[in-house]
Amino acid sequence: MTVRASVETLRLEGVRKSYGVGTPVETEVLHGIDVVIGSGEFTALVGPSGGGKSTLLNLIGLLDQPTGGKVWIQGVETEKLGDAERTRLRGRSIGFVFQYHYLLPAFTALENVMMPMLAVRGFPDDAMRERAAKLLDEVGLTPWRDYRANDISGGQQQRVAVARSLAMKPALVLADEPTGNLDTNSADGVFDVLRQVNESSGTTFLIVTHDPRLAQRCDRIIELVDGRLVADRPNTNVVRRSGAAFSEAGAARLVTPSPELK
Ligand code: ADP
Repeated sequence: MTVRASVETLRLEGVRKSYGVGTPVETEVLHGIDVVIGSGEFTALVGPSGGGKSTLLNLIGLLDQPTGGKVWIQGVETEKLGDAERTRLRGRSIGFVFQYHYLLPAFTALENVMMPMLAVRGFPDDAMRERAAKLLDEVGLTPWRDYRANDISGGQQQRVAVARSLAMKPALVLADEPTGNLDTNSADGVFDVLRQVNESSGTTFLIVTHDPRLAQRCDRIIELVDGRLVADRPNTNVVRRSGAAFSEAGAARLVTPSPELK
């Protein structure tokens, strides 16, 4: 196993993915992806439906394996890891936020955030409760921490899901359309929380979004079309809704999405 300097959170080298391998309908959907994402980056992954974004996220999240190329997570080359090692690396290094929150409806916000920790340690303890409470505080949900997941709003549920994704202190959070089910205000609120966590803890984020407004609030925008990276650019006019970097030019982009982000 080769280990690289861990300032790189993620490195993909020539990553390919085919479905239906060995069958008459074998189709390659990722055609050699090269990308490096450094520690603390806040990156949007954009592109039309069917372009391979979810497939790529599954490979990065170690939920699936490429049919070619290499995936490195925090300097660890993952190709030769066994199942147990992959699971351990995933649990230790990667958090997930999906379009649907997947909270357990009958459990409280606090209990939902504790779930990943419970899965590892098997029983609740004070340190776990304290960490979950702190994370809920970070996402602005302290008053709701003892509410059942069913009894809070969609935006609040998604903020619980964000807190849960951070439970194991991951280096990298993969978010697949995290605001896709939300109205504009709630989406902005959830995005604010992602940004805030990124700035306060240095967690690296890779966020799939169809929303050009939200992509414009990321530091870097990567575009995937038909299984190929067609653009990878720093977003110099990043719009931070609540921060100092909010700029006039950036604000204009809120109204006029860049042509790359259809
Ligand atoms: P995106 O997330 O950008 O919408 P996907 O990664 O979901 O794109 O899909 C990329 C391509 O791979 C699409 O053509 C899709 O039909 C195909 N695909 C995705 N998952 C599977 C699968 N499990 N089996 C076969 N084809 C798949």
